[in-house]
Amino acid sequence: MYYLTEVENQYLMRKLRPIAREVGVSESLRGWSWSEAPLRPYYDVKLPMYLVCGKYCPTDRDVYIKCVLSEKGEPTLPMIMGAAIHKTVETAYSTVRQGLNTSFEEWYNSLNIDRTREFSEEIKKYAETVWNHVITNARSKICSSLASQPYASKEDIVSTSIPFLIEHRITGELLGMSGVLSLDCYDYLRGIMFDMKVGAKPFSSYKLYPTGYALVFESVYEVPVDIGCVVFVNFSGGRMNIQRELFHINDELRSWWIEERDRKAEIVAEGRDPGPAVQCRRSCMFEEVCARL
Ligand code: SF4
Repeated sequence: MYYLTEVENQYLMRKLRPIAREVGVSESLRGWSWSEAPLRPYYDVKLPMYLVCGKYCPTDRDVYIKCVLSEKGEPTLPMIMGAAIHKTVETAYSTVRQGLNTSFEEWYNSLNIDRTREFSEEIKKYAETVWNHVITNARSKICSSLASQPYASKEDIVSTSIPFLIEHRITGELLGMSGVLSLDCYDYLRGIMFDMKVGAKPFSSYKLYPTGYALVFESVYEVPVDIGCVVFVNFSGGRMNIQRELFHINDELRSWWIEERDRKAEIVAEGRDPGPAVQCRRSCMFEEVCARL
């Protein structure tokens, strides 16, 4: 899932990294500059990352409903599917990392879930495909490393063959974000912040997710994160399709993320209802709450 193909690696090394080195990033837009404008949070509120980066609601009323009214909403099918696939990827990598031979069926049967909803038969089928893909790739990387590094320790082999922090818990509080963020994946050998999107290619703001997590990572660990990657996972005709988009987390994206955060934080700080959208773009988890207001 998070391994780049040979072509993507070439693009990263020959094109993207030279651009990132040449263009650079302004010091004031590094996460570690959180105590100064423009990164310093203006309001004393804590936002979840999906509300800052998502563009579900054209008027940002979802922010008001979630953070001011504290309504939970009703998870939509794409959200349920996304959560199931993320969980599958996390567990599959962890299974290989621990040297376990757990099968998908064993793991699935051990889950305490609502099988009619959280892991319906359709979602289960997709999750199994993802599980097999992740396990096969990760084991193959370990086999290659074992063959080429005969004197490396087991720990070294695993940590360099699967160089990913997956679902890493991190606090976003320095940037006015929630204290319990969970980033999809950070490749600590190549310094790439990944975000996985399941289903149809989403709204145009998808690059904001790796950007936001890179800023949070920089704010906590004070290491630069210059490269982002969105992994699009689709299932059509019974086959899984994976596409990756690599990009430089440049000043423009960082400024855009700050703009989104500040505008949404203002709504929460003022408790202001932005009103309903004239046209809601997609099935929204707050549809029912919104209609009641
Ligand atoms: S139902 Fe429409 S207006 Fe209401 S929060 Fe959702 S997208 Fe926004």
